[in-house]
Amino acid sequence: CGVFGIFGRKDAAAIVALGLHALQHRGQEAAGIVSFDGSQFFVERHIGLISDNFTKPAVIERLHGSRAIGHTRYATAGGSGLRNVQPFFAELADGGFAIAHNGNLTNASTIQRTLQKQGSIFSSTSDTETILHLVATSKEKDTNARFIDGVRQLEGAFSLVALTNKKMIGCRDPLGIRPLVLGDLDGSYILASETCALDIIGARYVRDVKPGEMIVITDHGTESFFPFEPQSSRFCIFEYVYFARPDSSVEGHNVYEVRKRIGAQLALEHPVDADIVIPVPDSGTPAAIGFAQAAGIPFELGIIRNHYVGRTFIQPTDSIRHMGVKLKHNANRRSIEGKRVVLVDDSIVRGTTSQKIVQMVRDAGAKEVHMRIASPPTRAPCFYGVDTPSASKLLASRMTTEEMTDFIRANSLGFLSIEGLYRALDEAGRNNEAPQYCDACFTKDYPTRLTDQEGSENLR
Ligand code: 5GP
Ligand code: SF4
Ligand code: MG
Repeated sequence: CGVFGIFGRKDAAAIVALGLHALQHRGQEAAGIVSFDGSQFFVERHIGLISDNFTKPAVIERLHGSRAIGHTRYATAGGSGLRNVQPFFAELADGGFAIAHNGNLTNASTIQRTLQKQGSIFSSTSDTETILHLVATSKEKDTNARFIDGVRQLEGAFSLVALTNKKMIGCRDPLGIRPLVLGDLDGSYILASETCALDIIGARYVRDVKPGEMIVITDHGTESFFPFEPQSSRFCIFEYVYFARPDSSVEGHNVYEVRKRIGAQLALEHPVDADIVIPVPDSGTPAAIGFAQAAGIPFELGIIRNHYVGRTFIQPTDSIRHMGVKLKHNANRRSIEGKRVVLVDDSIVRGTTSQKIVQMVRDAGAKEVHMRIASPPTRAPCFYGVDTPSASKLLASRMTTEEMTDFIRANSLGFLSIEGLYRALDEAGRNNEAPQYCDACFTKDYPTRLTDQEGSENLR
């Protein structure tokens, strides 16, 4: 998901809509904005894209005030439907409280059951509503203390932006699994998932919100708290591989540069004699450029992507997902015919994309097709806000690389090593005692407890 908030600026909701538009890649299912005009809160939540719902003057005009937060949703927990669209809003004892969440909690169902036994009534199936209830039912006196009380009970990934009648609050989980940055637009503070959302409105990047930091923004400026036990950070390494936008920077790394280094590393690890390097666009493009440059093989846009279909992976049903691949990509026969092709994509999940694209490139007359994947085999589900399916549906959890090569009908298949991935991030390698990143979907090394999963099949 994507989150964005601005505090103390005319046309706040319109600015949030722009910020969310730049974060659209983080979730296309639904979006919402909550604003506050000094006395009242206004809420708009819609299924669909920002450009379909939040560019209408009527919608933006209903969102009065100079403070607003918003969310763009990628359903990973709780299913679709308007009741799960964020930000969530409730009138608490001391006023309105709105919250937007990127990430996924790993103990939300457990907390929810406890709260329900105590009489809490949930109106959604989203893990985020749990946070609202924890803040609402906290016995602490003021908003900050109640917020701290709430987030201390959470496990998993959370980058939060909340709005009350006095302040805007940002908070990252102690491991900093999902990104969150602080920006500034002519003296008004901004919180956003990625720096690309600051660029769109010409805001200045101030810094990343730190893992475990709670930042409180009021008319008097910002104040930071560190409510959690200090831990070394475990940022999601897959944000660098796929999720974040290439023009964003996280912790000083430009995502595009990282992806090119990933491609170069991949060329080093899995060299191949070939005539052209072709990306599976758009997710494979930066890595393919890095591969081509390092290998000295010409880069060609041999597959053209239709940009008017969303990310196939995010389509809700299996049958649409399968259809989506054909809707989305077409091979450019002229550049492929008779060639030995290196195809580069960011990841193999179910294997559907690779299988179809390899076939498409063969049908376009390729002599050989060598698949190169800019990440290690995806072997385990993500419980932190990326919609990786259960292990049984992950190709790499069922097959060896050799079997996968046959399955996608490639002449060869090579995945980036986990060490190579860390090297692309300027690390000497993975510190196995204290890994620098979350990489659980590749290593099964989950950095938090998975309370809701205890006794479930998902972990096998
Ligand atoms: P597959 O067809 O193997 O299931 O999916 C692989 C493709 O899905 C890749 O091209 C990748 O860019 C794309 N993709 C979209 N969203 C996600 C996601 O959340 N996780 C992963 N691993 N891949 C995704
Ligand atoms: Fe990111 Fe994978 Fe960890 Fe999920 S499991 S947070 S996708 S690295
Ligand atoms: Mg892709």
